[in-house]
Amino acid sequence: MAQLFPYLPFHENETPASWAARLSVLHGCPSPRTFLSDQGIAPSDLLHGRRAVIDRLCSAAGQDAEAVWRNTASSTGYQSFVLRDERIPASMMVREETRFCPLCLLEDDCRADNPGIARQDRLSWSLRVVTTCPTHGLALIHRARDHRDNMRHKLLVHVPERAEALLDLARTGLHREPSPLQSYVLDRLDGRKGPEWLDGQTLEQAVKATQMLGIVMAFGTSINLGSIDRDGWDLAGRSGWQWTSAGKAGLHSAFDTLHVLAMDRGQGGQNYATVFGQLHRWLLEPGDRSDHGPIKRLLRNYILRNMDVCVGRELLGERVPRRHKYSIQSLALEAGVHRQTLRKILVERRLITHNDTGKSNSILLVDVKQGQDAAAALNRSVPFVTLPARMNATRPIVSCLIELGYLTPLFRSQGENKRDKCGFDSREVDFVLDRLHDLAPEIPHLPVEWVTLTQCTKRARIPMRDLLQRIFSGEVKNIGRAEGDQGFNALRIDI
Ligand SMILES: [Zn+2]
Repeated sequence: MAQLFPYLPFHENETPASWAARLSVLHGCPSPRTFLSDQGIAPSDLLHGRRAVIDRLCSAAGQDAEAVWRNTASSTGYQSFVLRDERIPASMMVREETRFCPLCLLEDDCRADNPGIARQDRLSWSLRVVTTCPTHGLALIHRARDHRDNMRHKLLVHVPERAEALLDLARTGLHREPSPLQSYVLDRLDGRKGPEWLDGQTLEQAVKATQMLGIVMAFGTSINLGSIDRDGWDLAGRSGWQWTSAGKAGLHSAFDTLHVLAMDRGQGGQNYATVFGQLHRWLLEPGDRSDHGPIKRLLRNYILRNMDVCVGRELLGERVPRRHKYSIQSLALEAGVHRQTLRKILVERRLITHNDTGKSNSILLVDVKQGQDAAAALNRSVPFVTLPARMNATRPIVSCLIELGYLTPLFRSQGENKRDKCGFDSREVDFVLDRLHDLAPEIPHLPVEWVTLTQCTKRARIPMRDLLQRIFSGEVKNIGRAEGDQGFNALRIDI
């Protein structure tokens, strides 16, 4: 049974405190505090959003409680509220200042003679992420409160402007589109869905991930967070949105962008703390809000797969079980090989491109398997000059084997006598010999008229290169070597 007359309906956009303030003016009370006390309600209970006091106030005012409850941020304990099934930490709510859109207040003022009854404090204005009036495209105006008393009609106390003065505020104010992050939060509170990746986390995680990513994308990874003002955070939300709204793929390309920018500055490799700067530092923050949401795992996976991370190292809260990438420096160190020589092999194998010229060995990365293969080949490397003896071959034969691609230099040296400086994988050398020995088996009582390779090229008038190619393709059938003899000089062919 309503005891208050006349009836003042709750407005779907306003906060319960705003409604209580309007009721207090309507019923001639000196302040909302005294009005609530008259109704047997402790003001702090209203500010904490206790269901019982909402019901009590609605019952007294003849108002459907559900509409009011829908706009009630209800305290769940330490610095945390629940609003429409969303957990909202106190840090996301504005409690220390008055925010308003002058054109919204002007519209309110036009509806009633007494602004104390007409002016509604919008629920959206109490969310920190909301910085722009969606109706009028105006940046909200902030008025600092001189004390912490929430139980005053703040839109009367802090906004003395009326009519023309409100229009002036609108004219000189900052006109802009609401940020997509703000729209996302308001849509989500209204029950609308998407983007999916953001919907899968708490509202706080979604907002914070977007803003923190936006901070480093907009201002750089080394920005001092203390230097970012209100508009900076708004800009960060706009900047981060283009990445987080695209979900995992968006996050990945944001990380990639930061990584490439860092490499252009000569940073990278093991130093992911520098590459991701404030984003990484934020994800390391401990405390009661250490659950940063899925962005933490995504960044960890990115670093694991794309940077030089030592096994056993602590990375964003977990030890690294295995590595995916080496830098040239860490690979050379681990394999015990010369880093510049290793680099030449990686270039030869196209694991490092010409774009990488000038980048340091500590930031150039290579896959674990391909890197280890290259380092192992270098460890087995034998110089060109030793090949004739090792393969029992003339120098021209060895040169032909290289031209034909049976032997591949690990890297190509610059300058004079460059072939002499080339290294070869001894495993490949052994493989060529094994194949040769299979094609030209040991033959007891080798016919004396069979000739050597060199004799064969002369008598059959065939270049050495072509002869070798025919032998390796299996076209030469009558070929062998004396028992116990090995290598190319041991071959005998039936011409
Ligand atoms: Zn407005």
